[in-house]
Amino acid sequence: MEYDVAIIGGGPGGLTAGIYTSRSRLKTVLIEKLSPGGQIALTHCIENYPGVESMSGYDLSSVMEKQARHFGTEIRIDEVLNIEKKDDNFFHITSSKETIKAKAVIAATGAKPRKLDIPGELAFLSRGVSYCAVCDGAFFRNKTVAVIGGGNTAVEEAMYLTKFVSKVYVIHRRDELRSVKIIQERAFANEKIEFIWDTIVTEIRGEKTVNNLSLKNKKTGDEKLLPLDGVFVYVGMEPASGIFKDLVDLSKSGFIVTDMNMHTKTPGLFAVGDLRDKNIWQVSVAVGDGSIAAINAEKYITENF
Ligand code: NAP
Repeated sequence: MEYDVAIIGGGPGGLTAGIYTSRSRLKTVLIEKLSPGGQIALTHCIENYPGVESMSGYDLSSVMEKQARHFGTEIRIDEVLNIEKKDDNFFHITSSKETIKAKAVIAATGAKPRKLDIPGELAFLSRGVSYCAVCDGAFFRNKTVAVIGGGNTAVEEAMYLTKFVSKVYVIHRRDELRSVKIIQERAFANEKIEFIWDTIVTEIRGEKTVNNLSLKNKKTGDEKLLPLDGVFVYVGMEPASGIFKDLVDLSKSGFIVTDMNMHTKTPGLFAVGDLRDKNIWQVSVAVGDGSIAAINAEKYITENF
């Protein structure tokens, strides 16, 4: 199959690119490994996306998906394994099912939760260790859990968890949160949340399931065990840039470097959203990236085909 544009990844950046390219009558396919939505589909509430006062991430991404399909974006659930740009000037995109050709590619595979890399984290995965409060929070009704991290995600998800659990410890490695002030204020006012400052988790322990954490205070060196039933890890994101690595420049942390048009160093290959090297990760930014990439992909195709 031959397309004008192939979008790899179905988060807000990829779906926005699809809305724009298919509305411009470019034959567009969007390939997504799981289901469209990306990270925001796992976010319980979005309230800083203009025009939407408050909506679940799943609902917001469903509207975007519907809009992309409406204009003609073909959405396929498949895993892209390899991308090459060949002498015919087309990208050849090999997935688990087939190889397709596209004149331009928009990389939108996003980022996945970073691991703590401590003993017990993998061993207790899905047995008390989780990276998704929306998916697993309800399993901890009336229990005690910890959230690791001090960014927006950690603090917002800690608040979400208080709907189910009796207590949430937020364990942060510094004495000050990274999250924005309005989120901090709400968390500090929440009686079910207790903050443990200047502390790292050195081991997740348990028998069949998690039953305590080994903690170390970075300032005093004091160590202690914290009894609990579950732990949610929110210590940032890692880019899913592996399949593009031979075609792009990567930052030190593995994010794809683009110019202001979202163009990578390979002509015709664009990158958008959480995958792109930048300082701000927001749905509104991913959406902006997606529209910029789509408009420039159209220009690239007009000039080169
Ligand atoms: P983040 O902002 O990078 O925060 C990661 C947190 O984890 C930081 O507090 C960091 O500590 C801590 N951390 C990192 N590695 C650690 C380790 N090995 N051990 C212990 N703690 C560790 O990541 P995020 O919260 O996932 O957010 C990602 C992006 O999405 C951000 O740009 C965020 O603003 C955005 N976001 C926005 C919203 C919103 O607007 N409502 C919601 C969610 C996410 P330090 O602070 O000491 O570095």
